[in-house]
Amino acid sequence: MRDYTEITERLINLELPIECIGNVHAKENLNWPIHQIHLASSRDTPQSVLITGGVHGDEPAGVEAALQFLERDNTEFLKQFSFTIIPCVNPYGYVHNTRETHDDIDINRSFETDSVAEAAIVKKVLGQTQFSFAIDFHEDYDATGFYLYEGRRDEKYIGPELATAAKAIGPVDPEDPGEDAPNLVEGVYKVATEWGTQGLAPYLLHFHSKHVIISETPTVWQLEQRVALHLTILDTALDIISDPKIN
Ligand SMILES: [Zn+2]
Repeated sequence: MRDYTEITERLINLELPIECIGNVHAKENLNWPIHQIHLASSRDTPQSVLITGGVHGDEPAGVEAALQFLERDNTEFLKQFSFTIIPCVNPYGYVHNTRETHDDIDINRSFETDSVAEAAIVKKVLGQTQFSFAIDFHEDYDATGFYLYEGRRDEKYIGPELATAAKAIGPVDPEDPGEDAPNLVEGVYKVATEWGTQGLAPYLLHFHSKHVIISETPTVWQLEQRVALHLTILDTALDIISDPKIN
């Protein structure tokens, strides 16, 4: 079992307003709060970014990457971007190290309904919000290297550049992830329209963000390497899309 209060304490230590966007009522009569944090400078920033982790509870590097992003100095990025961060979408799964929710449902296949509490909470808080970019951090137990999925309404894909930057952290996974996703270059796949909107990233692409990335790290790597991979993908994407000629 992991300790969720450790996450809550790290969020409190940020001394930023933390929003509880909903509580998941799980067995054991416990409530699991889902937190959201906004990060913005006082000036108006042209682009807003959504960062999510822990949709699958047994993929802790995404939660850790979101927390480390919040804990570091983002002064430069805050000149261009505001951020909405939901570090752990599946707190019950995170604590119990399960991919699914307390009643064995994969949140990342649940965004087409409102029957799964975690997905419904996220959908409700998103409201009508539109983001320039969204990234969802995941992990893969079978992979030996990293890979990523990209969805972009204008199809101006930056995934190949992200993969090149991420290779400084570790190798690309040689296996096809087998999600029927078209391959752009080695380790970079398109978010396929056939997926519908059941998953968080395709749901965001359809309703809330013109550009999404799903970053996947191999669980076999050390935690710090996985976190570094997620943050390298994120930082490289922010560097690219902060260029007004490209975004
Ligand atoms: Zn996952």
